[in-house]
Amino acid sequence: MVAGNIYIKEDTEAMQLIRQWLKRFGLSHWKVMTDRISVYQVSDDDYGIGSELVGVSIDDAPYSATIHHTRKLTEEDIIHELLHVRHPEWSENQVNLTTHLLLKQKEKVMKFYNVKLKKSVEVDEKDVKLVTMKNGRPAAKASVEIDGVTHNMFKIIGQAEAAKLSS
Ligand SMILES: [Zn+2]
Repeated sequence: MVAGNIYIKEDTEAMQLIRQWLKRFGLSHWKVMTDRISVYQVSDDDYGIGSELVGVSIDDAPYSATIHHTRKLTEEDIIHELLHVRHPEWSENQVNLTTHLLLKQKEKVMKFYNVKLKKSVEVDEKDVKLVTMKNGRPAAKASVEIDGVTHNMFKIIGQAEAAKLSS
């Protein structure tokens, strides 16, 4: 990937999402890099030079792939490209459909900021407990095990979010 070298920047957020989805797809042994390329490095027979592109290539080294992208990667891009890695036999349609379903499921998680770990932790809404504090404000409570340690997390939430949780 000599041409793209100067653009390679390990976007922490993207790399974190990649690791998370690799694990979810049972591909933790894979090493997936990101490669930011310029639109001027992309040519398309139908549209000429300067096309947007997000695509994955399987590299020569075993279990390694690279996601090439001309714009900032979204979580949807990451799920989509990793599904291609997981299921090379799937059609574009199948990949799109599954990506959509996985993103929809994701809406059912709540993010807590874990002060001890200094990172945000996603908790399935079914494992989140809604509580009301003395001043009447709603809050969410969750207890999750991370690397064998139980973390209790607490978060003040808005009325709308509380209504969504209790429904
Ligand atoms: Zn695709």
